[in-house]
Amino acid sequence: MSPSSTALQASRHHVRVGIIGGGAAGVATCKGFLDAFNAAGYKRRGSGDDQTFDIDVFEKYGTVGGVWDYKERVGSTSPTTKTIPMYRSLRTNLPREVMSFSSYPWNLLPSAEGRSYITHSEVGDYLKSYSHRMGVNQYIKSNSEVEKIQFDESSPSSGKIIVQTSSTTSTYDHVVVCNGHYESPSVPPSLLPLSTAYGSSSFHSVEYDSGEDEKWRDKTVLCIGGRASGTDIAREISCVARKVYVSERGAAVEGWPGREKVEVVGGTVGLDESDSERGVLLEDGRVLKDVDVVIFCTGYDYSFKFLPPEVGVKFEKGERR
Ligand SMILES: Cc1cc2nc3c(=O)[nH]c(=O)nc-3n(C[C@H](O)[C@H](O)[C@H](O)COP(=O)(O)OP(=O)(O)OC[C@H]3O[C@@H](n4cnc5c(N)ncnc54)[C@H](O)[C@@H]3O)c2cc1C
Repeated sequence: MSPSSTALQASRHHVRVGIIGGGAAGVATCKGFLDAFNAAGYKRRGSGDDQTFDIDVFEKYGTVGGVWDYKERVGSTSPTTKTIPMYRSLRTNLPREVMSFSSYPWNLLPSAEGRSYITHSEVGDYLKSYSHRMGVNQYIKSNSEVEKIQFDESSPSSGKIIVQTSSTTSTYDHVVVCNGHYESPSVPPSLLPLSTAYGSSSFHSVEYDSGEDEKWRDKTVLCIGGRASGTDIAREISCVARKVYVSERGAAVEGWPGREKVEVVGGTVGLDESDSERGVLLEDGRVLKDVDVVIFCTGYDYSFKFLPPEVGVKFEKGERR
């Protein structure tokens, strides 16, 4: 996004911008506003100039990076429940060359070596470095989770927006929502009986951390969902597990070359209610009876808990797949 400098010029002398989220989208949005304010001749508030601006980037964790900030975020959650989708062993599924911002190619980063498919910590370092080099860091409000935003009803014609965290209330001319879409793990309602039957032997992919864990050893694991997470997790676990099923609706049912322990099966209908063996019923009528662990790689729902209904953002649960 690149806010136009003419639009900013036409507005009032002091412009306040709030950005919700300090991931890739949030830091890039902040840089876009900084460029536009510079082009329009605005100075940061406190400079004594006639035309000034303020930007606050609200980030609920301690540093920028969003999903790529694995180290701090895993460290900040309970050791038993991991609540961020990034996992220890992840490498990018796109080459870094197509993941970089045009104003900050990878070769400007001193540590960047030749590999294209890089680790999550390399992407995290890149985003932190970008934020530092582009002057975004000084606008970050760390450990500030936005709980509510609303239009300023005391002055409806002003179009101003009030942003609340647990400890602050501030008013802005523009608010940009960059909160990502990995806050709300989703399991389709039809699969919940399966989750109940498997109890602590079932979980959502958000809790997955590494395929090298001994807990997979000699287990038969069913990954429900055969997209990016499901296939990557299945590939990793298959190094240790006895067998891994990858269940994907309408999938071509075939094995993976070099991964004999992985079997791709069709979509999962749910728990097989015909006996008490917690079998898993597939869409072709087959029942898997040897599953030890179920991983729901079934994605996330959109979540904008802080937005007021007047904004009109509507979505169905399970819509985002
Ligand atoms: C496991 C995994 C692997 C991926 N691999 C790739 C890949 O290889 N290549 C690729 O291009 N993309 C990949 N992605 C996609 C990734 O989502 C994008 O690369 C990018 O990081 C999205 O950035 P974002 O800023 O939109 O969201 P996020 O990175 O999710 O950042 C959102 C930020 O908003 C903050 N936030 C949320 N709510 C609030 C609130 N109420 N108040 C304050 N702050 C809030 C969060 O703490 C977070 O820091 C992957 C994603 C995952 C989960």
